[in-house]
Amino acid sequence: MYGYKVFHTEIMQNLINAVRKGMSANAYIFYGQRGLGRHEAAKLFASALVCDRQSAAPCGECRSCIESKAGTNPDIIYVQREKDKASFGIGPIRAMIADCQKTPFYAKRKVYIIDEGDLLTAEAQNAFLKSLEEPPEYAVFIIICEQAENLLETVRSRSVKIAFPPVSDSVVRGYIEEKYPDESRLDFIVKYCAGIPGAADEIIAREDFEQLREETLSLVPKLLTKNKVHAYKIAEYVDKHKDNAQEICDMLLLYLRDTLITCMGSGRRIINTDKSDKINILASTYSPQLIAKAADEILFAKKMLQKYIKPSAAVLHAALKIQ
Ligand SMILES: [Zn+2]
Repeated sequence: MYGYKVFHTEIMQNLINAVRKGMSANAYIFYGQRGLGRHEAAKLFASALVCDRQSAAPCGECRSCIESKAGTNPDIIYVQREKDKASFGIGPIRAMIADCQKTPFYAKRKVYIIDEGDLLTAEAQNAFLKSLEEPPEYAVFIIICEQAENLLETVRSRSVKIAFPPVSDSVVRGYIEEKYPDESRLDFIVKYCAGIPGAADEIIAREDFEQLREETLSLVPKLLTKNKVHAYKIAEYVDKHKDNAQEICDMLLLYLRDTLITCMGSGRRIINTDKSDKINILASTYSPQLIAKAADEILFAKKMLQKYIKPSAAVLHAALKIQ
């Protein structure tokens, strides 16, 4: 879209139309999961805001548009947390507020794209509030975050909130087909991404992903067979891969889901399309009740992981309960 890789064309067109009509606001919150193109969307929107030809913004031809596309427009400023800090403190925000007092270089507006808004400290947000209450007319702030609720209510109420929800499978498919034309696991990856195109980049880049998938699949019969030794073996495996414990639980849940819907006669709707042979065997070996129980317990284990319970302990607890 206008040379930017965005997935939410309707949302972006509405924002751009408002710019063309001179109806833009001073502050926006772009929120949604990682991998949904929020940064690229912010760049596109910023380019429209600083374009010289408002009624056709982003025209793609004016000096501002060309510099925006190249990432060198001095009137589009990226505000990021300090590299060595885990949170987004007041330092970069103070610098932004000071910069905000200076008029734009050539454009009518000056756009600040604030990344990782979820990490902004309350102190940083309170400092920022002053700018939000009385912004110079030319200033526009775009805060990018995963959840708008992570920002203070006072910041949220002064901003236009733009949600970036997961997209359709066909959008994800189009993205993968264009970027990775030789990918053989297309059907599986499209479904696994669950509406997040950027998740495909991570899966395809990871060398250990397929091995983890294969090994996790071999855990399923162990999980469903009454044998305490198996339960401890599963826990041992999770302990060895504790950094991926969450992912192992997600993979287990998807295998169990696929097995259950195969039991119900809807095998063509499975996500692990490339593992259908093994899933068919599981579906013909175990009862739907047992599979559903296993899914419940793994889901519970996943919740335990979020509460920082030791991964192997959470999974062992689940494995023993299933049996
Ligand atoms: Zn332009």
